Amino acid sequence: MTGEISLYFHIPFCSKKCPYCHFFVLPDEQKFKTPFLDALLKEWTLRLPQLLGKKIVSIYFGGGTPTKLPPPAYKKILEKIADSGIEIGEDCEITLEGNPEDITLIGMEQYGAAGINRVSLGIQSLDDQELLTLGRTHNPSKALEAVQTVYDAGILNISGDLMFELPHQTLHTWEKTLHRISQLPLSHLSLYNLTFEPHTIFFKNQQQLLPQLPSEEIRLHMLQTAIETLESIGLRRYEISAFAKPGMHSRHNTGYWTGRPFLGFGPSAFSYWEGSRFSNVANLNKYLTDLEHDRLPVDFEECLPYPCNLQELFAVRLRLLEGVDLTEWKATYGPIPEELEKPLMGTSNAKDI
Ligand code: SF4
Repeated sequence: MTGEISLYFHIPFCSKKCPYCHFFVLPDEQKFKTPFLDALLKEWTLRLPQLLGKKIVSIYFGGGTPTKLPPPAYKKILEKIADSGIEIGEDCEITLEGNPEDITLIGMEQYGAAGINRVSLGIQSLDDQELLTLGRTHNPSKALEAVQTVYDAGILNISGDLMFELPHQTLHTWEKTLHRISQLPLSHLSLYNLTFEPHTIFFKNQQQLLPQLPSEEIRLHMLQTAIETLESIGLRRYEISAFAKPGMHSRHNTGYWTGRPFLGFGPSAFSYWEGSRFSNVANLNKYLTDLEHDRLPVDFEECLPYPCNLQELFAVRLRLLEGVDLTEWKATYGPIPEELEKPLMGTSNAKDI
C-alpha cells in the first residue's frame, strides 16, 4: 500500500565487540547514552516533515544491543513518535533486538508496557564452545531461559538468530542446537552462516580459521538439516535466511525485501527513501555535532539510475520464497526493463512478460 513506511533505530551499545561483528558499536557506558538519546530525538524532529502523510507499519530497534538501553528510553522514543501526528498502523510491529544476558522478567514486562511487541534474541548457538569461539557473553542455559522469560513477560512474538558454518562446528553440535531450539516458543528464526567481514578480528585471523570450518558437504547438510527441523515444528522458510510460523513473518524485514521505504536513525543507520539510499555517520562525536547544529548526520547518499534500481529490487525480492508476481510488478513499476527481461525469458516462471 502506498504511504506505508518503516523506521529503524540503531542502538549501538554492546558489552564487548564480538570478533566477527562489523556493525558500528560503542561500549556500554552511561556517559554515551544520555547524549545519544537526546540526539536521536533531535534527529526524529528534523526528519519529521518527510514523514507527514505516511503510515508507519513497523519500527525496529536494532544494534548493537538495544537491551542495553532501559525501558524508559523506548517509552520516550515511542511517545515522541506517537505525539508527532504521524499515522501508526494499528498492528504496527515494534521489534527490540536483545541479547540473552540482558533478559529479565521485570525488564521485559517494562519493555512490553513501553510498546515493544516483538523481541529478536541473539542466541547464535546452544553449544558452549561455539559461543566462546564467537566471543558471546551468554551460555546455552541463559539463552534458553531468555526465550522463556520473554514469553512469560507476555511478548509472544519472539525471533531468534542462529549461526552455522562456525569454526570446529560439527553436524552433531548443530543438530543438538536445532533440537533444543525446536522446543522453545519461537515464532520466527533467522539463520546466518558465518562470513568474514573486513575490519573484524575473524577477518584478520581468517587464514587460521578457514581450515577449522566444516567442509562444503557438511555445510550443505547443516542447511538441509536446519530446514527440515524448523519446518517440522511449523517454522516455514519464507526467505533465504528467515523462517516463521504462519502469519508471523517479520513485517519489518519483508519491507526491505519488497522495497518499502524506511528511514534509519542513529549513527551508521541506513535509509531507503524516494529511490535514494543513504547512511548516517558511523561516529558518535560527528553524529552528536551534526545534530547539535541542526544538520542531518548523513555522510553517504546514492540514487541508483534506471534500470539498475529495478534490477536490484527484483533481485532482492527473489530472496522471498513467494518470488515476484510479474503482473503486480508491472502494475507498480511499469514495463519490465529490457536488461531484466532478457535473463528472465530463460526462466520457466516468466512466460507472461
Ligand atoms: S552483540 Fe551483536 S552487535 Fe554487539 S558486537 Fe556482538 S554481534 Fe556485534
